[in-house]
Amino acid sequence: MKKSEEFKHVKYLWDDGLADQLDPVERLRHRSNILGADQRITNTGGGNTSSKIKMTDPLSGEEVDVLWVKGSGGDLRTSTRANFASLYMDKFLSLEHIYNKAEIKGAKTEIEDSMVDMYRHTTFGLNPAASSIDTPLHGLIPFRHVDHMHPVSAIAIAASEDQEDLTQEIFGDEVGWVPWQRPGFDLGLVMQEKIKQNPKLKGLIMGQHGLINWADDDKACYELTLTLIEKAAHYIEGFGKGDKTFGGQKYHSPDESTRKQILIQLLPRLRGMVSQSNRFIGTVHVTESVLQFVNSVDAPRLAEIGTSCPDHFLRTKIKPLYVDWNPQGESFDTLMEKLEKGLVAYRVDYMSYFEACKHPNSPAMRDPNPTVILIPGIGLIAWGKTKSESRVTAEFYSLAIEVMRSSEAISTYQGLPRQEAFDIEYWLLEEAKLKRMPPEKEFARNVVVVIGAGSGIGKASAHRVAKEGAHVVCADVSEEAAQATAQELTDIYGVGIGIAGTGLSGCGPAIGLGVDITDRDSVQAMFDEIILAYGGIDNVIVTAGIFVSPDKNGRIPDDKWSLTYAINVIGAFVVADEARKIWQAQRLSGSLVLTTSVNAAVAKQGSLAYDTSKAAANHLVRELAIELSPLVRVNGLAPATVVEGSSMFPRDRVISSLIKYNVSFDEGESTEALRERLATFYAQRTLTKSPVTLADQAEVAYLLSSNRFSKTTGQIISVDGGLQEAFLR
Ligand SMILES: [Zn+2]
Repeated sequence: MKKSEEFKHVKYLWDDGLADQLDPVERLRHRSNILGADQRITNTGGGNTSSKIKMTDPLSGEEVDVLWVKGSGGDLRTSTRANFASLYMDKFLSLEHIYNKAEIKGAKTEIEDSMVDMYRHTTFGLNPAASSIDTPLHGLIPFRHVDHMHPVSAIAIAASEDQEDLTQEIFGDEVGWVPWQRPGFDLGLVMQEKIKQNPKLKGLIMGQHGLINWADDDKACYELTLTLIEKAAHYIEGFGKGDKTFGGQKYHSPDESTRKQILIQLLPRLRGMVSQSNRFIGTVHVTESVLQFVNSVDAPRLAEIGTSCPDHFLRTKIKPLYVDWNPQGESFDTLMEKLEKGLVAYRVDYMSYFEACKHPNSPAMRDPNPTVILIPGIGLIAWGKTKSESRVTAEFYSLAIEVMRSSEAISTYQGLPRQEAFDIEYWLLEEAKLKRMPPEKEFARNVVVVIGAGSGIGKASAHRVAKEGAHVVCADVSEEAAQATAQELTDIYGVGIGIAGTGLSGCGPAIGLGVDITDRDSVQAMFDEIILAYGGIDNVIVTAGIFVSPDKNGRIPDDKWSLTYAINVIGAFVVADEARKIWQAQRLSGSLVLTTSVNAAVAKQGSLAYDTSKAAANHLVRELAIELSPLVRVNGLAPATVVEGSSMFPRDRVISSLIKYNVSFDEGESTEALRERLATFYAQRTLTKSPVTLADQAEVAYLLSSNRFSKTTGQIISVDGGLQEAFLR
């Protein structure tokens, strides 16, 4: 039988052909990547791996033993060599003396926390990767290769009431058990002692936490990890409860389209409720398994116990908010009432948890809102400061559901004691890690919708706000162009980590959508998609517009007049009107920027429809500023003659302008070269004498959207290089 066929509950991915070409550190990287690639083996960002490797010491030229171990942060699946810390083994082991010298030692003591800073003194090869708190688990276990994973099947054993007996029953003498203990130097010593007592041990179930196992050969270590997980999963499978899972079903899910409609109504209101102190980005996660859980009899009891693996609850918080709503018999309004009440109770409960568990030196209380909300019939909604974080949170709770399913099948599920949970959540080392993170960017936690993002000012604005950390919805009449811009942003900023999110909700920091703003249904459909993707909106920038060139006689046909107004005025209004519903549902401040034109203020020949439509748009800005007050600021950006890369300046318009202004040119020149000629000509007419670029426009679209202009609404800002005749008065 092929190796890969021996495993039904995990994916066997070791490739000798590949591994044998790699150096020992790269083999560790390969092993880590393939372990991380299977969610049943470990969660995103969870677990770590190590190899003790003989290397030449750059100082002495002698061969030394080096511990390569996955460092702090990062993710096994996507790890590169740079994610691994390297420590001189002899120096690392010498730390034990320092630890033992301390008068007070043991789990959660000061000396234990201070060991983390000591690891840096043992760095081999000037490696800047920071060691994680799990380093001593790897360093103190006297085997060459160690895998520490968070597999659902192992956590299920570790989170069961009779976890020690179950470990014995499933694994016999080859796997031992250690009770829950916060990871650190002391836990490493506990494991070392276990192995001393029983040198035949191959691994340990870590109470309320996961699995750790080892071998002197790296491939053997990998295969052992899979074998142990397979064994646990196979055992659990034998106890499947079928219809009786989670105590049986209490509610039924509405069909998919009804569920979607409820979510579209629900998400902006819910986002507003949880975002009153900090804004959150949502992820909706709905699978058969999630629905089975939220609809079950046991869901309220199990949800209250919370998640077990510390890695899980750092994101999911100590417990989710479960709302006992009957999707068959109760109305949407009842759901909202229950959510409102549930959130109030949750925050009070969180505050009392904080008060009861805090130490004199604990960090200040964090946001008391839940990050996971469970609704019967609807599914799981997760909140995070970024899309990536909310996806990870959704992933972790969905894994916790699998842990509860398995644990309840073989035993009774239990959570981590509250004080232990608190001591992880508010660990000073964890706080220091948070403090070391770069400050949040200006548009972090924001969803910015840019309509017209397929080209020109819209595309430049999408790039500009993304640079400030925004989640960007790139919308355009050309869906293809919108998606191309979204792809550019995703390529720059990455899709993030976390494998969760149903449909569009599994998206990254940018999405591209097609929209026709002359059609209200199309605008509504666009906002519905945005709600399902991110949970709501914060800022809207409309750059979509149309300029119809007059015919040879200088006339614009009537239908083109209508089209000009339909896009430049009514379209902008419809966008604002549909966005208003979301802003009002969220009860969070927002901003709207409409792109008008300096032509709105300058009367001239040849652009009657366009100019008057932009004059109307200027006044639309002012009227909307009043209509949408006090929640939303509305301002206008009035560009002039941005010729660079503009869809408003196709080749024929550029040429007709060059002829009109008597600027000489060659028919053979490229469109961009002709545009540059025209831009240079226009620049000469301005007070600043320099061409106006897309970046100039995008900068102001961004500034007007940002809180830097928080006291400005109903204003039009010209970005025209300085045109005296366009001064507003
Ligand atoms: Zn762990």
